[in-house]
Amino acid sequence: METIVKPDPVRRGARMPDYAAACRTFSWAEARAQMSGLPDGRGLNIAHEAVDRHAETRGTAVALRILGRDGATTDITYADLRRRTSRFANALGMLGVTRGERVFTLLPRTLDLYVAALGTLKAGCVLSPLFSAFGPEPVAERLRLGEGCVLVTTPRLYERRVRPVRDGLPALRHVLLTGDPAAGPDDGDEGFSSLAHLLEAADDAFAIPPTDPEDTALLHFTSGTTGRPKGAVHVHEAVVAHHATATAALDLGADDVFWCTADPGWVTGTSYGIVAPLTHGATLLVDEGDFDAERWYRVLADQRVTVWYTAPTALRMLLRHGTDAAARHDLSALRHVASVGEPLNAEVVRWSAEALGTPVHDNWWQTETGAIMISNFAAEDIRPGSMGRPLPGIEAAVLERGPDGRALRVDGGVREVVDPGTDGELALRVGWPSLFRGYLDQEERYAASFADGWYLTGDVVRRDADGWFWFAGRADDVIKTAGHLVGPFEVESVLMAHPAVAEAAVIGKPDPVAGELVKAFVTLRPGWEPDAALHDELLGFARRRLGSVAPKELTVDPHLPHTRSGKILRRLLKARELGLPEGDLSTVETS
Ligand code: AMP
Repeated sequence: METIVKPDPVRRGARMPDYAAACRTFSWAEARAQMSGLPDGRGLNIAHEAVDRHAETRGTAVALRILGRDGATTDITYADLRRRTSRFANALGMLGVTRGERVFTLLPRTLDLYVAALGTLKAGCVLSPLFSAFGPEPVAERLRLGEGCVLVTTPRLYERRVRPVRDGLPALRHVLLTGDPAAGPDDGDEGFSSLAHLLEAADDAFAIPPTDPEDTALLHFTSGTTGRPKGAVHVHEAVVAHHATATAALDLGADDVFWCTADPGWVTGTSYGIVAPLTHGATLLVDEGDFDAERWYRVLADQRVTVWYTAPTALRMLLRHGTDAAARHDLSALRHVASVGEPLNAEVVRWSAEALGTPVHDNWWQTETGAIMISNFAAEDIRPGSMGRPLPGIEAAVLERGPDGRALRVDGGVREVVDPGTDGELALRVGWPSLFRGYLDQEERYAASFADGWYLTGDVVRRDADGWFWFAGRADDVIKTAGHLVGPFEVESVLMAHPAVAEAAVIGKPDPVAGELVKAFVTLRPGWEPDAALHDELLGFARRRLGSVAPKELTVDPHLPHTRSGKILRRLLKARELGLPEGDLSTVETS
């Protein structure tokens, strides 16, 4: 088995120097004791741990360093972040927004996003951050399901993504617009407020109300194969896992300059792109710009980034950009690189050991787990291509699968795979603080995610004889494109809304850079011709409504395969598309 062995200085400097010892001694109770808690025993609040706690002891340290698209750099100290987030919490109060109500953000990565996110948590409201590249349909669907009562967004995003669907959002009482107050709708227009005016009028002191660790803090939408997006509910207690896993898996501490390239619209961008670096008192780098290889190398070098958390797609793009590109930059400050979200190719790990001076540490988790569960560690050898081993405090198992591809239920229980190297569903023993507490309004779906004390992840993995986990695929049909999870049903529903489309099926098609790309197959209603104009029209139609999750490829196919009960067989479509064996066809409708 090929391993990458770390040089000794790295082993000695790591914050978790001995994995086996840490597993033996770790306890969640001790991890909880690392949190300061609200004063006077008033509970546990994520924003207090991330901001206020440090404002008292090291207020002048830089909490956020924001790199503007225009090249400007803005430093926000912990003391300043405390005042700004307090103003936001007070502003919610001025609007009559009460605890437990849901505040959505639809914002690019600007200071406003971080202030709104943490201010919302301070106020005891529930934060639901949306990805700003979503089109109007995904935005509306999530706001509707989550009954968002406040939306913080830019005037431009409002016009493009929200105004077309606003009528279908009766719960939305307040839209707070960022930017120049003069450019947006007037204060006083129904439901609109200028965020700048509100913050100006608000007091910059705020006492976080008592917060029960089990109070809901975050609502993150994720996708399954069927049905509407699932709103995964997370509580304030999750901060214990955000903090502890950042030490163990990201080797993060107070003296680090940390860059997480994930957008807060996805769970990584919140747990590790907002919360964990701040609970550690580190400096969190925020880059407003999009991916650009040269720019990213410059950021790593000029900002002296010490810990970098990114995604396989970005690393593959850097690799393609050329091996010598990294050598033109001084990356000597870079101590630890980690990635998540999709399979990380072994050659990228080897490339980065050379080019970046440190191998990439792959790790695994998902929206529902709230924090990193399986990882390669700073002081441990790496097996390129493996996701690593469970974090201290986490027990993982590989469960035998039934005919539906999911864990086999035997007399209400489950069975672990015995032979190393055999596929099975990845399961995690329930009991860590950031495990989701529910799918919003979908209790049955939530209950179905558990069996016999295990949370069932929906991922298929293998464990080797030494306990290292290897990703094999998904047990369902969800698509991972550039690290972002896309539910085929959501895309199919939008395509079906076009008058030409009789039926639609969407699959993930392997792509060397993005992992998978979204590919759609449609059958047409009578009277429509499958010509180039219609092809472009359908892609454009989906793009305008879905934004970044729209299909990149589309084929008109009059013979989509169905089961005998009438469901489209995406799996078979995918096998055909890739020229793979078609598997068991006994349930396929052939007429
Ligand atoms: P999300 O809930 O959007 O964060 O997506 C979680 C899913 O991403 C997991 O269930 C996996 O299918 C996939 N994933 C996350 N990390 C990895 C990894 N290191 N290797 C392979 N797949 C991963």
